[in-house]
Amino acid sequence: MTTIIYNLAQVQRRMALACARAGRDVASVSLLAVSKTFGFDAVREAAAAGQRAFGENYVQEALDKMAVLRDLPGLQWHCIGPLQSNKTRSVAEHFDWVHSVDRLKIAQRLSDQRPAQRAPLQVCLQINVDGGSTKAGVAPEQALALARAVAMLPRLCLRGLMSIPEPAIEYEAQYALHTKARAVFDQIKAAGTAGAPGLEQFDTLSLGMTADLDAAIAAGSTLVRVGTGIFGGR
Ligand SMILES: *Cc1c(COP(=O)(O)O)cnc(C)c1O
Repeated sequence: MTTIIYNLAQVQRRMALACARAGRDVASVSLLAVSKTFGFDAVREAAAAGQRAFGENYVQEALDKMAVLRDLPGLQWHCIGPLQSNKTRSVAEHFDWVHSVDRLKIAQRLSDQRPAQRAPLQVCLQINVDGGSTKAGVAPEQALALARAVAMLPRLCLRGLMSIPEPAIEYEAQYALHTKARAVFDQIKAAGTAGAPGLEQFDTLSLGMTADLDAAIAAGSTLVRVGTGIFGGR
């Protein structure tokens, strides 16, 4: 067995264990393999083991991989890196998901630029749960208003929230930060249940990476983004 296939199985075991501890169904959490900085051969190996969803931070690097891997059926590409206005067209044209939308202007551009023949772009709002002013992400207090606005854009489908808290070593600290994202998620979901339009498919909480996926799953993550744990150190 190659290292990547072995690592994937280990990560899946860790996810299953975290689900069991939290009393959650394993099927309620999916795995995004973060392939940034790794080559197309690494993606191919993970795909051979059944992995379909891949996360990339750098648009050009991702486009190069997509071109080489066109022959692989059913891959799903997620943009998880910071998004500048001049990159939105490439993202709208080539990705399936974006996790890092944190302002309306970017969302509007993505919606305008999403090609008509493709399914709506699946979008998560990035929220900044630790309040660091230099960090990407909408403040928790402003997340609901942004969600309501993004939910109205015709070529986007608002799917949920993403957060990247400051690294914390202790499980309890990781859990506390992820719980903040969960609370905002629940607030927006409740607005949808109460009738706010465009939130029918708001079901994704993109939380947890290699170091903190266990705490993220305990806090309610439905999608963990794992790079190092699958592909090795960068
Ligand atoms: C790089 C990255 C990851 C993966 O991090 P690992 O610690 O390697 O698992 C997850 N999410 C985002 C947004 C990233 O940039």
